[in-house]
Amino acid sequence: MTKVSADILSAAASANDAEVRRRGIGLIDGTIPGYVLLLGDDEANAPVLIESLTRKNIVVFVADDTLAESLRDAGVSLGWESRVVPLDLVGALGFVTRVAQIFGNTDTPEATLDYARGRLRGFSVLLGQPTPERLKAARDAAEFGCPLLSSAELEPGADWETAVIGGLALDSLAQTGIEERGLRIHVPLPELPVKYSEDFAGEIVRDDKAGAALYGAELVVTGQNLVDGQVTIVGPDLDAGLTGDQPYGLLVEVSGRAMQPDFENVLEREIENLLNQVNGVMHRGQRADTSLRVSQKAIDAGLRLRHLGEIMHARYHNEFGNILSRVQVTIITDPEQAPTLAERAQAVYDRRDERLSGMTDEEVDTFYTCTLCQSISPSHVCVISPEHVGVCGAMDWMDAQAAVNIRPVGPNQAVKKEGLLDARLGQWESVNRVAQKETGGALEAYSLYSMMESPGPACGDFDCITAMLPLSNGVMVLGRAYEGLTPSGMDWAMLYEMVGACTPVPGFIGHSKRALGSPKFIAGDGGWRRIVWMDHALREELRPALESLAAEAGLLGFVDMIATEREATSEDEVLAHMEAVGHPALAMEPMI
Ligand code: SF4
Repeated sequence: MTKVSADILSAAASANDAEVRRRGIGLIDGTIPGYVLLLGDDEANAPVLIESLTRKNIVVFVADDTLAESLRDAGVSLGWESRVVPLDLVGALGFVTRVAQIFGNTDTPEATLDYARGRLRGFSVLLGQPTPERLKAARDAAEFGCPLLSSAELEPGADWETAVIGGLALDSLAQTGIEERGLRIHVPLPELPVKYSEDFAGEIVRDDKAGAALYGAELVVTGQNLVDGQVTIVGPDLDAGLTGDQPYGLLVEVSGRAMQPDFENVLEREIENLLNQVNGVMHRGQRADTSLRVSQKAIDAGLRLRHLGEIMHARYHNEFGNILSRVQVTIITDPEQAPTLAERAQAVYDRRDERLSGMTDEEVDTFYTCTLCQSISPSHVCVISPEHVGVCGAMDWMDAQAAVNIRPVGPNQAVKKEGLLDARLGQWESVNRVAQKETGGALEAYSLYSMMESPGPACGDFDCITAMLPLSNGVMVLGRAYEGLTPSGMDWAMLYEMVGACTPVPGFIGHSKRALGSPKFIAGDGGWRRIVWMDHALREELRPALESLAAEAGLLGFVDMIATEREATSEDEVLAHMEAVGHPALAMEPMI
């Protein structure tokens, strides 16, 4: 049974309550992530350890009088202001006890300990010899949930309730303690030569203003033995004239006790939001289709890739400190090495996408919303179901579910599938209600399966556009990389301007390549059978997915019935091709 010793209770009783309130509030509101009980007298190593802890705002109670004296002599500032507090173990735990009694409103020693263990998180560090007195002190602290860490070799007794870890390198003591107790560390943003604010999230960096234009893949993965805060740049920096979509790769490796592979994609999708807040940076796209532009003005002011990595490190800690404790960033602009990351990333994307394979909308009772892109498109919302990914294609039903677990109050919310209005269109009362609310009334209804009736909006982060071709009774699909004119007479840029304006235009939708592999893709309008034209590169890239859908319906050879720019560049030519190959859309009911 756990207990608080009489002398600790006595120290708590004699504490100055005004002082306890003033100092202890930081442990409650998170401005002080936790405390360390520093045991031992190793004056040579203590300053480095103390520096690494106080830099993270952790309070260090120096329990050994001799060590406190040496630190003072060495010029280390002692006191609450510097967060290095000379206080013996009984005094320190008495303080923690009183904080728990006051802020936790506890009235029994057991309740006080419960509160202290859960809310006031600390750990003991023993620097020096593990004498019986020091081990006894650490054991008292273990009652408060404090594990014991040391660079000395330790032999833990079997009955310790907390971890006892000896033989640690000096420079890993702080990080190990932080991870053992799950302390949330606030990391300040780096000093930047430009402003950083949500106000810049929708900023456009046009071609003639861009001093760097990069294009490539971004990947967040769980790593091991990471060096928290390490930012590595591989290749030339922003001031090297990187214009014209130069190769780019961003690898963010994270780890933490609560980190799970399912969270990686959620973190990855946040990159856009975090980087777009830099004045002079425009991030668009996701996964292997990411474009990063930096204005010449920002580069002239001194903005470099290192700053972007440091922002990622700080913001990830501050936004997701509940699941991660280490963040390591690598930014690649070396043309030789960027493709290697892209290849690795593609294998990860494929693995992620397979998780949902075969799951249908009918099997679940909950969909999810995503409003992450309201930072670039204010009235945007995606409604995500197992068979309807977000517009970007990088946020699917599993990701949204994981995002809600990580941040219950965040850009993703669960929406119960209630009040079916139209199964063909994929409309529910509950979904319409949430779409109205999230768009401030801009949307009245949201169809998951139709591009003709109440389609959802597109924020700009899509890599395909599907548009109706009225003469052909079908649709054309083009990818972002296609530079020619389409049978509609418009090219990507013209269509993008209309579709990406965020106000849905029936007959035109922006979506991901991945969406085209879903049986529910525009199912309310006839589905994949409506596809009569695609740009050649996209058709070939998506051939396996489309062939699989067609094969399931017993329609062999369907993909070759789809015209490309090689067979048709006008609607008349598309129609002629359809008649020549017997395209199924000819026999379907009129789209309009
Ligand atoms: S496109 Fe939609 S799903 Fe993707 S991040 Fe933006 S709001 Fe979320």
